[in-house]
Order: sequence, then structure tokens, then C-alpha cells
Amino acid sequence: MKMSRLYMPTLREVPSEAVVESHKLLLRAGMIRGLANGLFAYLPLGLKVFKKIENIIREEMDGIGCLEFKPPFVVPGEVWQESGRWDSMGPELLRFKNRLDQNLILSPTAEEAFTSILKNELASYKQYPISVYQINTKYRDEIRPRYGLMRAREFTMKDAYSYHTNQESLDETYLEFEKAYIEIFKRCGLKVIRVKADSGAMGGSGSQEFMVESAVGDDTLLLCSKCGYSANEEKAVCAEDAEIGSATDEKVCEVATPNMKTIDDVSTFLNMDSKHFIKTLIYSVKGSEVLEKDEQLIAVCIRGDLEVNEAKLKSELKAADLELASDEAVEKATGTVIGFIGPVGLNKDIPIIADKTVTKLHEAITGGLKKDVHLKNVEPNRDFSPTYVFDIRTVKAEDKCESCGTPLYTKKGNELGHIFKLGNKYTKSMKMNYLDEQGKQGVPLMGCYGIGLDRLLASIVEEHYDENGILWPMSVAPYKVAIVPIKYQDTMKEVADEIYNELKARGVEVLLDDRKERTGVKFKDMDLIGIPIRLVIGDKNLPNIEFKLRSEKDAKLIAKEEICDAVIKAIAEKENC
Ligand SMILES: [Zn+2]
Repeated sequence: MKMSRLYMPTLREVPSEAVVESHKLLLRAGMIRGLANGLFAYLPLGLKVFKKIENIIREEMDGIGCLEFKPPFVVPGEVWQESGRWDSMGPELLRFKNRLDQNLILSPTAEEAFTSILKNELASYKQYPISVYQINTKYRDEIRPRYGLMRAREFTMKDAYSYHTNQESLDETYLEFEKAYIEIFKRCGLKVIRVKADSGAMGGSGSQEFMVESAVGDDTLLLCSKCGYSANEEKAVCAEDAEIGSATDEKVCEVATPNMKTIDDVSTFLNMDSKHFIKTLIYSVKGSEVLEKDEQLIAVCIRGDLEVNEAKLKSELKAADLELASDEAVEKATGTVIGFIGPVGLNKDIPIIADKTVTKLHEAITGGLKKDVHLKNVEPNRDFSPTYVFDIRTVKAEDKCESCGTPLYTKKGNELGHIFKLGNKYTKSMKMNYLDEQGKQGVPLMGCYGIGLDRLLASIVEEHYDENGILWPMSVAPYKVAIVPIKYQDTMKEVADEIYNELKARGVEVLLDDRKERTGVKFKDMDLIGIPIRLVIGDKNLPNIEFKLRSEKDAKLIAKEEICDAVIKAIAEKENC
């Protein structure tokens, strides 16, 4: 490609709407443009990178025998009604009607679409297992799209689904996807952190996220440097702490704590570390299978220096939703104001959910269920009995690894992909059946496997850039070589054309800067758009040519006759790292 023919509107200034490096650089390099908040267009250079990524993913999916489909992006609402997600999914699901008053949605994911397409024809066990995928547009009506391609409204996803007649077959396919995913991210030049949804102690995992470290990551990861434990904060666990205080025979007694509503206040006043406190929060819980109530207030107790992890609490209670109860609801249910709530003598209609740490406390301090009063010498299980004890603490840096005891550390991350054993959730609700060997009806098991392409592309930029621009890994670079003649005229033009034609003939994607620009401008552009190899053709050096890798500071001179071989060798060396 000759630069004079290319549409590459580079920008010198950083666009004000961009806050993350990938967004800034992709705009500056003329690779993407925003059409509206969360809606982006890929320009020719950006699209070339996008297609490289798409091809890597396609090759790896085809490599494990996954079959590519192209379902529509617009899906009838009725298939989402069958699965139940028409009602359960929030406003991110864009629902609309056509002129015939039929419900439609824009696909944010396609469990329903694929299951609906396949269910009538996969009638015999002989047709299983089968894995299918698409690389297709998705839409999520995000309330606040941000960080450029990292969280857009419209995006492209590779989503795959597998169908099985038994668990072993699902486990096997899941492992094949795991391997393929590791290969995809490696080929894209990304270091991923694999986060299993449950801890290693439980054996086989049913779900795994592939995360990439990011300062603006949506997720917090807890990691162990020694044994490799990794978990999303939402699910992270840690080793249990030692008992705090010693069992006491002393009775509970009241202490006056006028206007001291926070643990900090009382802790300073009594000169006791917050670890000796039991913090009590009143939550309103909806649709809990454990509590068997549509709506229920609960008291959640946790050691004073810790925070309640609502995701863990929600999952332990198998609840549809939960939130802190309003001040009014708390006062009505407990007879006192927030700041003085405690489990001792609490209204029996309010179940007490205690974190494990609470059961390890002695001589604890709690709210006294009276304004301006706290209680001392509280012994859990003597002075109050938790209805349930769960692990519901938020694990923090420096908490100890459950497996090996090493202090954990945290990183911010973004999810690039996930693989997930769905079981029969969709196949059952959507009435997908097959006949087994004995002629008995069975419901297939399902797995799903996703990768967001735009976020993957942005993440590559986040991991590969310097102060001058992007450094594309060879595998996804829009062009592998840039030829920059100091001036595109006379001998320099002849040599540039000769090398350009030879490289093209040998199958190398090459860009020739034939513009009438100053050399400095040409160099700046090439650095910004991140072409891995730069060849500079100048009068002074001829018949030698300057060869420079974008990732290295120094250039070297190579004789004109050897330059194409040197380029092809460098590409081969860099292609897989
Ligand atoms: Zn560990």
C-alpha cells in the first residue's frame, strides 16, 4: 500500500474525550473514530488489525473443530421469552418492536439464538457433541459506555456454544476451549491472568475468566505470588484468621457512647482496635432460595475491620437481589438508629447472617440496640446465635492465601474472555431434547465461550505502546514493514519501489511512504501507527539501507541486496512472540 492512497487521518493532539491510552492512541493513529458515545467506526488501518485478530480467533476455533455460523444480529423476542431472559435481563438488553408489532432484540449474547436454531435438528445422541460459533456484532445498551473500545455499546464478539449428552464430553470440550484461548491470547501478544471462578480446592472449575491487567479495569483480582491462586474480588477467599480476644465469663455490659455512630469513633473512645468489634448491617434481600422469602430483612454481622462482600452474600443466600435497608426500615425493625445496631437481643424476625470471622471473636463490642449505647464482653454463640455462618468478607491485599498462606496482592483487570459450563439452564428452559441410545429422552448440557474482539484489540494497545505511539506485535500489525525514502525521487524512489515490489511479491504486507512530507513527519507517523519494521532509504547510506525495529532504539545498515531476506527473517522471528 502506498501512503498517498491510504486514508490515515493521524492527530498530533490527544483528543479530549479519551482518557485511556488505547482510546487516545487509536484515535491519534487514525484507526478508529467515534460516531456517538459507545459507537465506533474502524478506519482502514484499524480494520486491518481487527481482521488479523479475527483470523487468529477463527483459526484457533476451526482448529478445535468448532463450526462457524452466521446468525442474525436481530433476534425475535420470543426466544428470549422462552429462556426467561426477556424478563430477567436489565435495560442493557435493547428491546424494540417492528412494524408488525413483533418483539425483537439486538443480541448481546446468543445462547437463545443458537439453541433455537439447533434444537429441532439435534434429535439423536449420535449428533452430539457439537460446538458452534460466530464472530458477530453484539449490542449492550450500556448506561455509561467509556474507555473507547474497552466498553462500547456496539461491539464484536466471538461467542461459541457447545452441546453434549454427558458431563465428561462437556469437560473435554471445555478443556479444548481453554487451550485454544491460551493460544489466542499468546498469539495476540497478550499476557492474560486466568481467574477460576471457584478455588482450586474444589477440583474442576466450571468457569474461567481470562483477564488482562489494566489500570482502568472493571474487576479487582486477588493473586498469590507463590501458588498462583487467582480470583475475582467478587469470589475471592482467604485463609481464616486466628481467634481474637479470649473467651470470657463476664456478662455483657453496656457502655455509654454518646453520638458515636462509627466503629472508628467507638474504637478511639474505648482505645480498642476495630478488630474487636462486630459490625452489624441490615440488608433487604429479595428472592432468596435459602431464606425462602420473597422479601426479608436480615442482619449481617462481620468483624469491625472488614467489609461485607455483597456478591458473596448474594450468592450464599441464592438471592435475586439485595441492598442495604433504608434508615427508616432499619429503625422500624430494630427500634434504634444506624450506628447502634447489634445482634444481641435483636428482633427474632430478623435472621442473623454472620461472617466466619465473627465466630472467632471473644469479648467483642457491638451496638447496644439503644441510642448512644454499645455492649462489651459479647460472646458469639452465647449472647446471640447466628442463623447462618458464611464466608462473606471482602478479601483485601495482605489477607493470606487460603492454599499456601502467602499474603495476597491485588491488580485491576479487564475481562477479555470467559469459558463457562452452563449445564442445562438454556436447553431445559427452551425444551431442547435428544433421544439417547436406549431411546430415552435427555436434555443436552451446554457450554459457552466468549471473547470480545474490540476490547482485545484495545488491550493489545494498552500493553504495547511507548511515548511515540503504538508498538503492534508482528502477528496483528496492520502492515509489517514501512519503507520510508527520505525523498521519494531519483535513486531513492527507484530503490524504494524496487524493495516495495519485491516484498509485495514475496507476500509481505508493506507500506511505502511516497508522500511529499518532511522526514520527521514521516517518522512520527510510522512510530504512531506502530509498524514493526522500518526501512529508511537515504542518499547518504545507499547502497545500504537503514533497518530499524519499532521496539528497538538503534537502527542498523543492511546492504540493499540482503534487505528483503533480512525483513522476512525478522518477521518470522517476531511472528510468534
Ligand atoms: Zn497461595
